[in-house]
Amino acid sequence: MQFADRVALITGAGSGIGRASALQFARAGARVVMIGRTKEKLDRVVGEIQAMGGEALALSADVSQPDQIRQAIEQTVATWNRLDIVFAHAGINGVWAPLEELEPQDWNKTIGINLTGTFLTVKYAVPYLKRQGGAIVITSSVNGTRVFSNIGATAYASTKAAQIAFAKMIALELAECRVRVNVICPGAITTDIGERTEQRDLEAVSGHVEFPQGRIPLTDGQPGTPEQVAQLVLFLASDAAGHITGTEVWVDGAESLLQG
Ligand code: NAD
Repeated sequence: MQFADRVALITGAGSGIGRASALQFARAGARVVMIGRTKEKLDRVVGEIQAMGGEALALSADVSQPDQIRQAIEQTVATWNRLDIVFAHAGINGVWAPLEELEPQDWNKTIGINLTGTFLTVKYAVPYLKRQGGAIVITSSVNGTRVFSNIGATAYASTKAAQIAFAKMIALELAECRVRVNVICPGAITTDIGERTEQRDLEAVSGHVEFPQGRIPLTDGQPGTPEQVAQLVLFLASDAAGHITGTEVWVDGAESLLQG
């Protein structure tokens, strides 16, 4: 099995891309630690993994809270005595609004979960990854990396851009410890993240674009699936990607090349 004996930690694992990745890592032999805020959602995925003979642990923690994420990582290592793979995936779209209506608390919440949450997850995991080497995969987006036309998504796109700089900085810092760091940039993927987006008064912003359906060239408009993204995550975390670090990979069916 590709990931036999390895422990993979995934934040935001209760739904969407995180859940699909947890299932695929477990199928490939990893012991999976799933972190999220809602224990019931995580427990359901643990049940799915156990039903197929895999091993999984669900821990509730808010990635933006240093003590919570530190304790979850400590509990992981106390349970399984090692940590090999970190998929820092938890994130929110947050509030999308004209700049003057984007309140400081909206901004801080998005930065706190998407960017500070990534920093905290990686920071507290690194001492354990360094013991034997490992792989970190961070979820960014087409927004903030190739797409800047979703006016109003300013806080979100800023976090997604910053995650790339963060990943490149630590890829170099951690290289001598054989810890690889890479970033995935999904386009439209069929998850529920959009339902939790709060959009305010975007029609009031000049230049606001309503994107027509059907703008994903590779699939004639069909969004990608969480499973397709998970396959990329597994590849980047695997020994097959042993010489790949400090880079981003877009998984979007060329959507971002068209939309920009
Ligand atoms: P999702 O909403 O199903 O999953 C996100 C998960 O993160 C949820 O389970 C949620 O509970 C969890 N989460 C949110 N805040 C958290 C916190 N503070 N602490 C711990 N867990 C928290 O959506 P998804 O699309 O599967 O994943 C979202 C991630 O994917 C984000 O990082 C987002 O930027 C990125 N992304 C998604 C798309 C897409 O189209 N779905 C496109 C580009 C990037």
